[in-house]
Amino acid sequence: MSQLIAVIGGDARYLELIRQLKQLPDTTIILVGFDKLEQGFMELNEMELDELDQSKLDAVVLPITGTDAKGNIETVFSDKVINLNKEWFHKLKKTSIVFTGITNDYLSQSANETGITLIPLLERDDVAIYNSIPTAEGAIMMAFEQTDHTIHSSNVLVTGFGRVGNTVANKFSALGANVSVCARSIRDLARITEMGLRAIPLEKLSENTHNCDVLINTIPSPIVTKEAIQNLPVNAIIIDLASKPGGTDFEFADKRGIKAILARSLPGIVAPRTAGKILADVITQILEEEREAL
Ligand code: NAP
Repeated sequence: MSQLIAVIGGDARYLELIRQLKQLPDTTIILVGFDKLEQGFMELNEMELDELDQSKLDAVVLPITGTDAKGNIETVFSDKVINLNKEWFHKLKKTSIVFTGITNDYLSQSANETGITLIPLLERDDVAIYNSIPTAEGAIMMAFEQTDHTIHSSNVLVTGFGRVGNTVANKFSALGANVSVCARSIRDLARITEMGLRAIPLEKLSENTHNCDVLINTIPSPIVTKEAIQNLPVNAIIIDLASKPGGTDFEFADKRGIKAILARSLPGIVAPRTAGKILADVITQILEEEREAL
């Protein structure tokens, strides 16, 4: 059975994603919002949104950022405004699957009201864990760029031990850093110890920053506070990986003269091809499961 997929907007990661989706059997891909790319990109159909008959689509792939609160799409490869209003969603088939990186109230509501399946890819454990690899490599790149010492033998403090924190701690440790990890759950503290790393209960963070060279935050909550920053050595750096606005008191870090960087979307920056492949693999798997279920 053939399937029709529209990719509406997207960034550099989507070039690899599209390349892979194109190889699916009996699949037609339509691109919307890629008009700044070289004409005839990969010999795929490029259209304007109003030329697209969404009632025929089996799947829609939205950008990592999804839509804004009014349904506007962020397009890197087009200057045109693309708006997916509620009416647009209502015209989709009930069986359509809409993939997005993250969702918001507007997207989730549109999916609920129309009965379509919305899949926020970045919320999936598998995608988050695979993505944690380029994220950790990006953090390593920043540590190289922003310090004048090796990672080996330096004191690295990671806050948070979720999917990103775990990989970051692991990779910095593999490079020979002395890694400490701050977490709030007893289970995580036990696992951190088992990994041969220094486990610090989160409430003791500020007492343990005095000899830190690189502090890497992965907790999307304000936990790198004045107290934690106050005790950092003056040449320490903070790399905050948590989603906007991060978990660091950036204003206070600035006042103390400590370099603190909110490093967003590292997979798309350091490894767009890998990041695109991660998304494509998961989308392919979901579409195959759907086809088998029919
Ligand atoms: P995750 O698996 O949910 O882990 C989050 C960690 O933060 C867990 O250790 C969690 O502890 C802890 N945490 C959450 N809220 C907390 C709070 N209020 N107080 C104390 N600890 C708290 O998330 P993830 O996949 O690792 O992602 C972490 C962050 O990185 C997210 O903001 C994500 O958007 C961002 N991210 C950034 C990039 C980038 O390129 N910069 C790439 C990927 C992800 P518990 O387990 O005890 O709840």
